[in-house]
Parts: sequence; structure tokens; C-alpha cells
Amino acid sequence: MSTVRVRFAPSPTGPLHIGGVRTALYNYLFAKKNKGVFIIRIEDTDQTRFVEGTQNYILDALKWCGIRPDEGPNVGGNYGPYVQSERKDLYRQYVEQLVKEEKAYYAFDTEDELNDVREKAKQMGMPNWQYNSVTRTTLKNSLSLSQDDVQKKLSLGEPYVIRIKIPRNKEIRFEDKIRGWVVVNSNNIDDKVLFKSDGMPTYHLANIVDDHLMEITHVIRGEEWLPSAPLHVLLYEAFGWDRPEFAHLPLLLRPDGNGKLSKRDGDRLGFPVFPCNWHTKEGELYSGYRENGYFPEAFINMLAFLGWNPGTKQELFSLEELVDSFSLERVGKAGAKFDADKTKWFQQQYLRKKTNEELADLLSQYLNENIEKSKLISICSLIKERATFVKDILTEGDYLLKNPVVFDEQVIQKKWTEQSSVLLNEWKDKLNSINEFNSNEIEKNFKSFLEEKQLSIGQFLPLFRLLITGKPSGPSMFEICTFLGQIECIERMENNMKTITTLFANIN
Ligand code: GLU
Repeated sequence: MSTVRVRFAPSPTGPLHIGGVRTALYNYLFAKKNKGVFIIRIEDTDQTRFVEGTQNYILDALKWCGIRPDEGPNVGGNYGPYVQSERKDLYRQYVEQLVKEEKAYYAFDTEDELNDVREKAKQMGMPNWQYNSVTRTTLKNSLSLSQDDVQKKLSLGEPYVIRIKIPRNKEIRFEDKIRGWVVVNSNNIDDKVLFKSDGMPTYHLANIVDDHLMEITHVIRGEEWLPSAPLHVLLYEAFGWDRPEFAHLPLLLRPDGNGKLSKRDGDRLGFPVFPCNWHTKEGELYSGYRENGYFPEAFINMLAFLGWNPGTKQELFSLEELVDSFSLERVGKAGAKFDADKTKWFQQQYLRKKTNEELADLLSQYLNENIEKSKLISICSLIKERATFVKDILTEGDYLLKNPVVFDEQVIQKKWTEQSSVLLNEWKDKLNSINEFNSNEIEKNFKSFLEEKQLSIGQFLPLFRLLITGKPSGPSMFEICTFLGQIECIERMENNMKTITTLFANIN
């Protein structure tokens, strides 16, 4: 068995959408699972669609995800260069070979001429005119013109393209590892351009030549490339090369299942469709998972499940575990619906997996002031379960760092009564009298206070919480108090009482 070699072959025509990252991920997982090689190849033969900065964006985004290539533009390798524009001179000899063998031909028709023909066909009720085995006989190409004419045009430097000569009425069959057998009649394929008048190969030619030269064993790519696969099969046959195996991945769909999730969806649907932030030349910003605070592990885990499943109940997989479990056999045919809530769920799970120490380090980058590490660790331990993103720990647990200024009005409306301040004052005195101020002691005293006053937890705890934190809910009040310390708790109870009684008076 030859070594598995797969490639991710993005075109730098825009930032990489999450569907592209998933293609890269599946290629990577497949390569690593099979002890093979994962290659990144930049397909930049279409100069008209080139967007500055996207090659770096793609490489940077994959790096953030932990998808490291074995060969590629920045890492090199024995099959380089890995950017097609740097391989430009290599494609011509291959296409010339096809011309020599009459499997491809020069076509001199100008854009205007072809538009005319197309327009006429439309008027005659044929809207889908194609350059093919029938129409080519009436057009200006090296199959219809005399050899002399062709030579003359070539020596005069007339612009031309090279088209593949698609055979008439031939059945093309190949087995796709995900979709099964695909059978297409060659009459449905037009004589695609392989080589353009600007001296550059088209995607089809460069893709096949490079897959062959780079000894690619499996082509794993998005379903949108399935219609091109029969043409690619013909090209392999024309060259007399063994072809790689094909696996076309299911589409990523919008959350409602209505259509493909596209780059244009941007942030419109309430979640990013790009791995990292992307600033357009026009000054627009498309937001990314990285800058939204997602962990790459969570992002990758979520993406892996869009089209693949392990066949077990396990949902949390590290990249190494994904490598172990991945197989193309478990990739489905049906489009995979993007689920924004599930994406957040994955993020939350990974946040919970982090130690308080790790979270404290991550949290410090969101702080404007210097806070002791031990304090940050305690904050993380208290708030972790209530956060999805690291920065949530600060918003969710803001009262741990400063006395609240906002007090939940609903709690005041529902729970506060005329007696509340009297009761809370008594409780404050009791709290103040505790010798060993720790959560056990506070809890013990709290319970005996409730008993003494014949109060239920539901009646009194929310008032106490409101006074200290301003919030309707949160982690254990006894732990919060321990964290804040006795002096701070008593001060807050005294200071905030006035504000809340005024709010209560205003509400009633
Ligand atoms: N350059 C193509 C793209 O942008 C690659 C398709 C393929 O993998 O063959 O997606």
C-alpha cells in the first residue's frame, strides 16, 4: 500500500469559510488516521478572483485550529512549490501533450464571438448552449480549421485557449467513497477550457496535474466539486494516469436546513461563518470564532460533527481522539445543518474542562487592572459553570471585584417587603459576629437565622444575594461571602440597603 497523501487545496479568492475549514479538518484527520501526509496547496490560477491577504488568512486560520500541514507553502516538502502560480511553467507541457494526442485542441473564438453564438442559440430556444462535440465543428478551433490556418494563427500570436476534447456519448463511471457509484454521460459535459489565453491553466488542468505530481491518493473535498469530478476522471484517462479515490463531503446547511451556508451569510444569522475575523478592503468586518472567544478545540470538535459521527454517544473529542475515531465511512451523504446552540454548548464544555489556573491566565488578558492570581483562580472556580466564554466570567461575576451598582428589579418587585430591611439588618449583625468567617460557618448561622425567624430559603436568600451581588442568581452565597471577606460583606450590606429601599419605594 502506498502512503496516503491528501491535500487541502483552497483558492485565495476570499477568507476561508467554516465549510472550508471542515474540508481541511477531514483531510487532516484522514491523513493522520492512516499515518499519511496532509498537504496544503494554494490554487491561485484564477488571477481575476485573487483577493489580497487571503492566503495568509487561510494558513493562519488552520494554524489556530491546530491543523498543521506536513507539506505546504510555509513548510516546504519534496513536491513543491505548493502555490500554483509558482508552478505556472509546468502546466503547458502537459496540455500540449494532450493537443498532440488530439485529446485537446486550440480554440481561437473570441469572447464576443462566443457570446453571439450563445445569444443566437437562446433565440432559437436553446438556453444552455455549450462548446461541445457537436458545436465545435462550426467554431474556430484546431479541429475545424485547416492545419495551415491553425499554424498561421499561432505564428501571428492570435490569442487562443486550449479545450479538452470530450468524447461523444461515453459513459463515465467512478466510485465516490461517500456517495457511491456516480455515472454520467459525456454528452452532458462541455469542452472545458484547460489553458487560458493569459498563459495560466484553469483550475481543472492545474488540479489534476498537481494531484498527479504530488501523488495524491485521496481527493476529499466539498460536494460542490462533484459536478467537476467526471471531467477530472476523463482528464486522468486522457493523460493515462491512475486516478485518486474521490470523497465528496456533504454540504453545510443553514440552521433551518434552507440552503447552503454561504460566505455571504456572514454574521447575518447571529453566528460567525469564518474561523477568524476578516476585514474587507471596503472596511467591512466579518467576525470569526477566534475573536468571539471560542477555543480552537471547541470549534474543531463542533466542525467534526458537521457531517461525521463516531457511532457512539461520545461527543467531546480532542484532535487526537478525532484522529483515532475518524473514518470516511462514517461521513454522511445528507447536508449537515449548522447548529449555533450546539456550537456554544461545545465551547461551554471545553471551558469547564479547563483548570481554574488555566482560566485565570486566560482571564488576565481581559483585565485592565492588576489582580492577584489566587484571587482570579477563586473567581474562575466560582463562576466557571455559569460562563460560556472566558470573558463571561468577568461580566457574570463582576460583583466579585466591585460593589454592584445595578440591582435586579424583578427580585425587588417579587421578594422585597416592608420588613426586609429589618430582617437583613439583623442578619448582618449575626454575620458580623461570626468568628471564623468561612462558608461552613456562614451557612450554619444562616440556617439557624432562618429557623429563628421562621423564614424559607426562597423568601430570604434572594434578598441577601441582591444586597451583596445585585443579581437574581449565582453560585453559593456562602462561598461568595467567604471570597469577599467579612468586612466587605458587612460594608456592602450597609451601603446597598439604602439604594434598594429607595428602589423599592419608587417601584411601589
Ligand atoms: N481550489 C478548489 C477550491 O477552491 C479546490 C477543489 C478541490 O479540492 O479539488 O475549493
